[in-house]
Amino acid sequence: MENHTKIVLDENDMPKKWYNINPDLPKPLPAPLHPGTHEPLTPKDLSPLFPMELIRQEMSMERYIPIPEEVREIYTLWRPTPLYRAKRLEKALKTKAKIYYKWEGVSPAGSHKPNTAIPQAYYNMKEGVERLTTETGAGQWGSALAFATTLFGLKCTVYMVKCSYEQKPYRRIMMETWGAEVFPSPSERTEAGKVILKEDPTSPGSLGIAISEAVEDAVKSGAKYSLGSVLNHVLMHQSVIGLEAKKALESIDEYPDIIIGCFGGGSNFSGLAFPFMHDKLKGDKESLRAIACEPAACPKLSKGVYAYDFGDTVGLTPLVKMYTLGHTFVPPGIHAGGLRYHGGAPQFSLLENEGLVEVKDIQQTDAFKAAELFARTEGILIAPETAHAVQGVIEEAKRCQEEKTILFNCSGHGHFDLASYDAFHNGKLKDYEYPAEKVKEAMKHLPKMD
Ligand SMILES: *Cc1c(COP(=O)(O)O)cnc(C)c1O
Repeated sequence: MENHTKIVLDENDMPKKWYNINPDLPKPLPAPLHPGTHEPLTPKDLSPLFPMELIRQEMSMERYIPIPEEVREIYTLWRPTPLYRAKRLEKALKTKAKIYYKWEGVSPAGSHKPNTAIPQAYYNMKEGVERLTTETGAGQWGSALAFATTLFGLKCTVYMVKCSYEQKPYRRIMMETWGAEVFPSPSERTEAGKVILKEDPTSPGSLGIAISEAVEDAVKSGAKYSLGSVLNHVLMHQSVIGLEAKKALESIDEYPDIIIGCFGGGSNFSGLAFPFMHDKLKGDKESLRAIACEPAACPKLSKGVYAYDFGDTVGLTPLVKMYTLGHTFVPPGIHAGGLRYHGGAPQFSLLENEGLVEVKDIQQTDAFKAAELFARTEGILIAPETAHAVQGVIEEAKRCQEEKTILFNCSGHGHFDLASYDAFHNGKLKDYEYPAEKVKEAMKHLPKMD
């Protein structure tokens, strides 16, 4: 029992249904609003962006939604993913905690993101869509969607945040190999991009700007748009992570006291945590702690406000109630590109507002120190995003006075982030203070609600 290093479930143990947290939330989720009228959105309002089945899932109150057989068949290319016990990390930390991690970096794209890219491409294909547009920060989401669309014969257009496009050519090449077309954002291809470039020709871009471009492209051309995080249906698709982890832990009579994940828009954290939060919300596991680790340079969960805001920079997307730094906030160019988003998923934000989940801010040099220790103990070279979770784990493990079980999501590998590791090794990585002035300025632009 005590001695497991790696638990791998059988293919047949892979979940047959996704878990949707909507019916279990302590309050109904505040309705998403139309960006122009501020009226609650109807499914029809969303139909220029998403296929009907994803809109249905977004609003669904069913607790479990069946995973289509075609999607499960592709999942088996890398799922079930292994669950590891981090014995060597435990030893290095001299902790009483038992540390387990779910390793999502074994997917073809190298992260958890194909868990939602595959069903999203599938439902679009089913409804006759021929092209998907999207944004990508670090390139992880773009790669996942490029991989998924190619399996279903769809075209894929990716707007890649310019600073990543320049720093990370290998992710672009990966997307192109899977057949996607990739443009640096802001670009001249959209009105949204042109407006930003006019204001600041040297803009490094941001996820918010790239989303504006991808949405505009989709709406104007009759393609559909695909989002890799934040939305309810995305978090639901990611529940395969937590459902598998639960089953694997059950098989060795374990249940976590603490669950940890890094937080960009909230999908990998929620994918792991929500199936366990289900127990807490039912009243079964009240002491369960779930901790989201965000970068100190983009602290929407700890320093943002819980308010209606746009998902993009220009204001084309629906308004959703979430923790936000303001949609015009452009975070400093930290190396964990996947965590540079101004808002947090509405489902997570509601739980945070109710005091049911916790938040930790992590500096990037601490994150890279944690990543290095992880590589030297567990062997895996993790993504800078994931490193924020590992630093969160280290802090909690060091505080453990008694034996506790910690479970964290090891969301992806860092094989395309070696330049960031190099900067860290050469002492070139710096920490950013909380950009209070920039946040204050961006908060002025929150949409006025009546
Ligand atoms: C995109 C990404 C994240 C952050 O996104 P979430 O939606 O918050 O999960 C974290 N880790 C990796 C490896 C990623 O690619």
